[in-house]
Amino acid sequence: MLKLAAVSRSPGGSRAQALWLALGGVAYYACASFGMALFSIQPSNITLLWLPSGIGLAMCAQAGRRAWPCVFAASFFANAPGMGAQESLAHLLSTCVAAGADTLAAALAAAMLRRHLPHGLERLSSLFTFIAAVCLLPTLVSAVILAANLALGGYIAWSASLPFVGMLLFADSLGILLVYPLVAAWRAGPAPRPGAWRASLLVTLLALAMAWLAFTVFAGLIFLIVPTLLYLALRGRDQAVYVALALTISAIVALAARDLGPFHVVDTVQARFMLLSYLFSTTVVVLGMALQRHDLELETRARQDWQFLANHDALTGLSNRLSFMPMLENEIERARRNGRAFAVATLDIDHFKRINDTYGHQVGDKVLVAVAGRLRAALRTVDMVARMGGEEFAICFPDTPAGEALLAMERLRTGVGQLRVAAGGQQVTVTISGGMAVWRPDQPCGVDQLLDRADQCLYRAKREGRDRIVTD
Ligand code: GH3
Ligand code: MG
Ligand code: MG
Repeated sequence: MLKLAAVSRSPGGSRAQALWLALGGVAYYACASFGMALFSIQPSNITLLWLPSGIGLAMCAQAGRRAWPCVFAASFFANAPGMGAQESLAHLLSTCVAAGADTLAAALAAAMLRRHLPHGLERLSSLFTFIAAVCLLPTLVSAVILAANLALGGYIAWSASLPFVGMLLFADSLGILLVYPLVAAWRAGPAPRPGAWRASLLVTLLALAMAWLAFTVFAGLIFLIVPTLLYLALRGRDQAVYVALALTISAIVALAARDLGPFHVVDTVQARFMLLSYLFSTTVVVLGMALQRHDLELETRARQDWQFLANHDALTGLSNRLSFMPMLENEIERARRNGRAFAVATLDIDHFKRINDTYGHQVGDKVLVAVAGRLRAALRTVDMVARMGGEEFAICFPDTPAGEALLAMERLRTGVGQLRVAAGGQQVTVTISGGMAVWRPDQPCGVDQLLDRADQCLYRAKREGRDRIVTD
């Protein structure tokens, strides 16, 4: 408790972080205590799954060295009863070394994560770096220290220390693989909608039921757990997948700790190796699939963003020339089939150069955004408006006869004339000129010709004094 109070008082340490660390410490202690009771194979008392390693990593990754005392304290109090810390100084020392090894593993894993995967475990290509650098290496260091410590303290025989290292390596790595992605996903994204949870809960219950049946009735069901979890990894949200995976693997370890069930063969060493391989491969495959889906989602989002940027003007958000031309071509095709007229207009802000020269380019940009917003707001959703370049815009009025389109253009012209754009205490006003051409089925023409006709009208509007709409 003293150590927790020190964390909250330390310079720069926020109250939220201290609370987070305290919760982490409690979770570490609880998982360690439950883990020793639930996941230990009897009579050897070897723990097959050590979830606290993942919690320790999450704490150190989040709070750096401030997490060290919390991890140490949680590990010490979890280990103390089993190691007889209260009985003699030697046992107390052994317990301290064990807690120190756990803290070192967490700190080392966090440092490796920062160094090799600064963005965390978010892509499939990082999974094997994560396993090697963040799971296996720090765990190996702490496992060697722990095994030597236990052998020196007389808790295990020296001959048992090597298999013990192997078991620790596996149990701690599995703990990191199950807990860290879950904590990271929780911190990164919004929680899934309740509907998504319901479907995930059903699949999780199914996987848990299969695990129980595999140990009690029909051993072969153990092989159907992987596809069940894979289904979730492909369809579910990240948090739901990681919760399901952690629960299912924990349940299998808890069941296997009492009776090896589907993994039972004559040689117990082989049986344990089969169990460990099964747990590890299931975890890696499900994690890999979840990460693969995450990768695909990121790529799809990036492709959509690029597509949007390619088809839209970055300043105003309107369509650009590149996307307007095919839309206009489609409209001509449609009008040709339907035999209906439609109108196209080009617009240009009057004396825009003067605005830039008088108020600066930034105010010019604000005027462009304001005009674009007014055009978009005043038009129907079926009308297409684009920024063709500079201070020039184009509009296509589908299925609209000349008279109606002209009315809309006049409404736009007066609307833009009423805009007031703030420029350092002054209010800038602008006017626009427009040229309009109508595509008629009895005089069909192509896109370029149609836009050219609208441009000719625009030039006439400029010549005749600006702030007006001219039609052919
Ligand atoms: P007119 O009434 O004949 O159209 O005169 P104008 O000054 O509007 O036309 P001109 O073609 O001489 O000038 C257009 C100006 O628009 C020149 C250019 O610097 C400016 N411009 C083009 N793109 C942008 C932009 O993205 N932002 C800003 N602020 N200005 C731009
Ligand atoms: Mg111009
Ligand atoms: Mg202009």
